[in-house]
Amino acid sequence: MQAKQLWFVTGSQHLYGEEAIAQVAQNSADIVAGLDAAGPIPVEVVAKPVLTTPDEIRRVMLEANAEESCIGVITWMHTFSPAKMWIAGLGALQKPLLHLHTQHNRDLPWADIDMDFMNLNQAAHGDREFGYLLTRMRHRRKTVVGHWADEAVQTRIGNWARAALGWDEVQNLKLIRFGDNMRQVAVTEGDKVEAQIKLGVEVNTYGVNELAERVGQIEDKAIDELAAEYEALYDVVPELRSGGARHDSLREAARIELGLRSFLEEHGAKAFTDTFEDLGALRQLPGIAVQRLMAEGYGFGGEGDWKTAVLVRLMKVMSTGLEGGTSFMEDYTYNLGAESPQILGAHMLEVCPSIAAAKPTCEIHPLGIGNREDPVRLVFTAPPGPAIAVGLMDLGTRLRLVANEVDTVEPEEDLPNLPVARAVWEPRPDLATSAEAWLTAGGPHHTSFTQAFGREVMEDFAEIAGIELVTIGEGTTAQEFKQQLRWNQVYHHLEGSL
Ligand code: MN
Repeated sequence: MQAKQLWFVTGSQHLYGEEAIAQVAQNSADIVAGLDAAGPIPVEVVAKPVLTTPDEIRRVMLEANAEESCIGVITWMHTFSPAKMWIAGLGALQKPLLHLHTQHNRDLPWADIDMDFMNLNQAAHGDREFGYLLTRMRHRRKTVVGHWADEAVQTRIGNWARAALGWDEVQNLKLIRFGDNMRQVAVTEGDKVEAQIKLGVEVNTYGVNELAERVGQIEDKAIDELAAEYEALYDVVPELRSGGARHDSLREAARIELGLRSFLEEHGAKAFTDTFEDLGALRQLPGIAVQRLMAEGYGFGGEGDWKTAVLVRLMKVMSTGLEGGTSFMEDYTYNLGAESPQILGAHMLEVCPSIAAAKPTCEIHPLGIGNREDPVRLVFTAPPGPAIAVGLMDLGTRLRLVANEVDTVEPEEDLPNLPVARAVWEPRPDLATSAEAWLTAGGPHHTSFTQAFGREVMEDFAEIAGIELVTIGEGTTAQEFKQQLRWNQVYHHLEGSL
C-alpha cells in the first residue's frame, strides 16, 4: 500500500501570467502536503505540475493510465481552467477520478481582498466549469466539497482512496475455484466473462485433485511445525493436542493449509473457492486452513461462490490498516423473539478469525453433510460494533451489489453447542425492513461482512466500477426501496445499451 499513489492535478490557464501560475503551484503543493500527511488517506498523494494546456492535460492522464502505482487522480481547478482543454485528457483517463472542490484559503480575507486575489482563487467557478464537462461527458467520479484541511473532507477522500485501492486490486486479481458451484444452487452462479470485463478479476477452475496432490506432498516437519503453531496460537481442545487421541486430525488440517497456501502462491491467486461436494482425495473439508488464509488476506467463498470470494478479497484490501476484520459470512438463522430481532451469521466452518473478539478455540466436530473425516475449525464470536454485510449477484444482464448496515451485538446467551464461529447482529433499520428489502433486491445468502469501514467505501467502489449498489440502512423503507430498484432497473438498462 505504501507504493500506491494518488496523483493531484491542478488546473489553470495562462491568462493570469507566470507569477500567478507559480503561486498556484505553491498553493497546490501546500494542499498535497496536507493530504499526504492526513491520517484518513491511506496512500501517498503526489503533486503533478499545474496544467494549462490540452496537451499537458492529455499527457498526464495517459501517464496516470500507464503508471501501475497510480490508483487514481484528484483534480482541482485553482483558477478558471476552460474545460474544453480537458476533453481529450478525460476521454483518455482510465483511472478513478475524484473532483476536489476546495480552495487554498479557508476564510475570506475581508480587509485585504482585491482583484488579484479574486483572479487567483476562483475554484468556486473554475470547478463549476469542470463539473459541467464531467457531467456532459458522463464521466464517473466522486465530488468532495470543503476545505482540504478539514477532517471530514480528508475522510471522504480517504474512503474514496480505499475504493480506488480495491479497484486496483480487483483489476489484477486471480481467483482459483477448486471444483464447481454447489449443484442446483442459483445465486452462486454467474457470468465469469462479464465479471472479468466489468471488474478485471480472472476466475479459473482447477481440479481439486491437483490440490490434493500438493497437499499429499507436504513434508512431516512442516506439518509438525504448523500443528505446534496452532497449539500456541489457539485454545486447542485436548483431543487435538499433541498426544491427544485425535492429534492426527489436527496434523491433517495443517497439511491441507500448507498445500492450499503453496498452490495459491504458485498461481499468484489471492482468492479461492471450494465445495464440500467435490473434495477429491482431500480427507477433510478445509476449515481452519480457509479461516487462517482469510485472516492473511485471501478472499474466500464456500460452495464455489466465486463472486463472494472476490468481494471478501476486495473488502480486505480496502480495509488495510483499519481496525476491524472482514469475513465470508452467511445469514444463517434468526432470533425473532429479541426486542430488536437479530440475525445469527455463520457458516459450516469458514468464518475469518479477523473478526474474533477473543482467542479462538480450535475444535473438531462432525460436519453433518459431505462424506469426509470430521474437519478441524476455529470457533469464536465477533465483537459488538457497526458492520456492513455486502452481497454481489448476477442479475442475468448485469451485476448488482447490495449492502446492509448492521450492528453486531453480544449474543444474549452462550452458545455451548454451536460448533462454528459466529456473529450476531441487528440489521438496520430493523430485521423486517432489511430482510424485505434484501429479498426484493434478490440479495444472496452469502456475504462479505466487515467491521472495518462503512457504506461510503462501497458506494465509491460501485461508482468507480460502474455497477449498481443498493444500500439498506437507517431511513430505508421497503416501499421506497422497491421503487429505487425499479428506477435503477430502467437506468442500468439504458446505460448498458448506450
Ligand atoms: Mn454457504
